[in-house]
Amino acid sequence: MSRRRTPRKPASTKAPDDGTRLGHLSDAELFAELARRQMAKGVSSLEDIELGAEAVGQFTKEELQSQTIAALPPEDGTPKPCPKCGKPVPVKTKNRVRHFLTTAGELRLSRNYHYCKACKRGFYPRDIELQLPEEGEVSGAMERRILDFGVNTSFEEAAQRWCIHYPMPISSNLVRRVVDRVGRRAEAAHSALTLQQACRPSPAEPPKTLVVAGDGSMLGTREGWKEAKVAVVDPGGSLIRDKGRRADPGVRYVAVLGDQEEFRAALKAALDAELADDVMNIVWLGDGARENWTMASDLCPFAIQILDLMHAIQNAVACAKVLMGEADPALPLWEARIGQLLDAPSPDAAILELMDCLPYTTSDEQLDALDKLIGYYRRNEKRMRYSEFRAKGLPIGSGIVESAHKHVLQVRMKQAGQRWSIERGRRMVLLRATYRTAGPRRFHWAIRAAQMDPPSRPRTQLQNAPRRVKRRYVPSRGSPLNRAASI
Ligand SMILES: [Zn+2]
Repeated sequence: MSRRRTPRKPASTKAPDDGTRLGHLSDAELFAELARRQMAKGVSSLEDIELGAEAVGQFTKEELQSQTIAALPPEDGTPKPCPKCGKPVPVKTKNRVRHFLTTAGELRLSRNYHYCKACKRGFYPRDIELQLPEEGEVSGAMERRILDFGVNTSFEEAAQRWCIHYPMPISSNLVRRVVDRVGRRAEAAHSALTLQQACRPSPAEPPKTLVVAGDGSMLGTREGWKEAKVAVVDPGGSLIRDKGRRADPGVRYVAVLGDQEEFRAALKAALDAELADDVMNIVWLGDGARENWTMASDLCPFAIQILDLMHAIQNAVACAKVLMGEADPALPLWEARIGQLLDAPSPDAAILELMDCLPYTTSDEQLDALDKLIGYYRRNEKRMRYSEFRAKGLPIGSGIVESAHKHVLQVRMKQAGQRWSIERGRRMVLLRATYRTAGPRRFHWAIRAAQMDPPSRPRTQLQNAPRRVKRRYVPSRGSPLNRAASI
């Protein structure tokens, strides 16, 4: 067995002797008495001892919490300053009760309600004093724990799994409400950039290289299948290099259940957070959809665009299925041959061989499939210089987005029978990307911080030279375009 990581701190053996009824007993003596009472109940196994200790611990926590709250000085009933205008406001209702769930147990809190007529706003001075969340029925520490369950498994399963870890049960509805509330908070973040920076601070220096990859996949919603777009912003290409083995690969994820414009804005925030404007080598991997390349040219005009090799081959296989039938035994051969032909400085050789197939087509459908594939390769010719890219050590087909779709979204959002309402689905998509970017330990804090703080490091935008005013990009400081403007 391994040794204890942290040595146990023994209970104090010094009695406080403060004149109270049990003041002559030290903490150690009190614990010894508790242990004696446990033994008197009869224990037969380690589990009995363990669960007994846990029950005593839970009871102690809850009791201590309620007694501390009861020991708070009573509210004096005098007018209190309104949090908005600062003017003193008298009590409107006394002793309003709020039930609260904390990590120490249930809590019943009775406090005075004040109402400012000028601001049309009610408030509870005691809640403010204790820094309680304005809405909801759980404390911040509790919210953090419930969220961790709710963002990782279905609400029903989260509630069940909770009971294995903690003594007080919670309902799946509570999990749903907590996740929803935090989701709304994430949506209300100061900006997408603030949220990105709260999840993962911007680096002090721009990274040497940046790999950007984006793609869409379908999610089941109550309005049918909708496309969710996911992008990965990977500084230094660590995901590909380490093949996802590192616990924290230092990667930013962007996910949107919405239109292209929304996706563009979210991705821009992640790129800004990674100081993409100042990165010398950016590689942009895409699936060949036209709007993706438009977005790539717009956001990172100097990036090297590469058609993801996997997509290039998948499209060829889809064409082969039309030509030869779904179950033709030669399909793997076709796939291998296309892979071989594409491993070249251009797709010309592949296109030539595909053209050779033209006379053998027997229907319009087959002709069309072949035509489409050749057109797709022609359009992306410059993005398919695979042997050249490979020689330069650039990623050509990594599957990083495919795996991101799985571990960012589908693992939580594409379970059997799940049909998301658009509103809840959008929130969960945002939460999942935030969760994966921030990591489990920083996640809850990051969302709160992003709602409070403005961006920590606003980007200094260089003035565009007059001849480029119609373009939206900002060149790097060392760019010759910029030097010309400053002379
Ligand atoms: Zn007021």
